[in-house]
Amino acid sequence: MSEHTGSTVSVEHLSRRFGSGAEQITAVDDVSLTIAAGSVVALTGPSGSGKSTLLHLVGAIEQPDEGTITVDGVEISGLRRAGLARYRQRVGFVFQRYHLLPALTVLDNVLAPVLPRRARTDHLTQARELIEAVGLAGRERALPAQLSGGQQQRVAIARALMGGPGLLLADEPTGNLDSTTGAQILDLLLGLRDRHGMTIVLATHERAIAARCDRLVRLGDGSVVEDLDLTEGEDPADTFDRAARLRL
Ligand code: ADP
Ligand code: MG
Repeated sequence: MSEHTGSTVSVEHLSRRFGSGAEQITAVDDVSLTIAAGSVVALTGPSGSGKSTLLHLVGAIEQPDEGTITVDGVEISGLRRAGLARYRQRVGFVFQRYHLLPALTVLDNVLAPVLPRRARTDHLTQARELIEAVGLAGRERALPAQLSGGQQQRVAIARALMGGPGLLLADEPTGNLDSTTGAQILDLLLGLRDRHGMTIVLATHERAIAARCDRLVRLGDGSVVEDLDLTEGEDPADTFDRAARLRL
């Protein structure tokens, strides 16, 4: 894993619409946010409030209709093919349903982002280190179906960390897991941030997860309706009271 620090993300007047005419939906509606390097931000809000669309825009999986996204001083909406490909290599994405390739072993899933394929042998050491870092040492040859949901999400996180991204985007990473396993996945993400300094933005419905992040951004109908610094003026260990007070 590389040692560089996390990315700074700046989103300005970002909008994304779907459909046309009377059917048109503004999934992300004039969102502006600056996300500090090395912070862990929880994106919350009801289903349909724009969390996934905002993550896809920041990850350059979708293009905005309006506004800009600047990551470490580079405006990503201005990038063309080669620049975009390089940017996507610098961003890790984790999904609710893991999205592992079922026919591939843990090791080959983690190596899957490395292109061209012949370069994979050069990345074996990194892949093995990441598998160990997510707590799956010894399971390199297992297939996804032989793993629990929590273990599969650990594989997906290791895969997202190939190349040492400065930014990790996670769309409901604990949404398919029981609360204990979900808390362990968040422990893993927070530990990775502490060790490697990456910036993490995660969408979540779960108050126990959001309450342990550094900042909570709540969306409603595509707009930011609440933006709270959760680290200010309180004991960071005291997340139970925090969750109750925030009515997350
Ligand atoms: P969330 O992740 O908070 O549930 P989404 O970003 O998935 O919200 O969706 C925001 C809104 O945009 C919803 O109304 C959703 O139906 C709509 N939407 C999202 N993606 C698409 C798409 N590809 N085509 C049409 N509508 C979409
Ligand atoms: Mg979503």
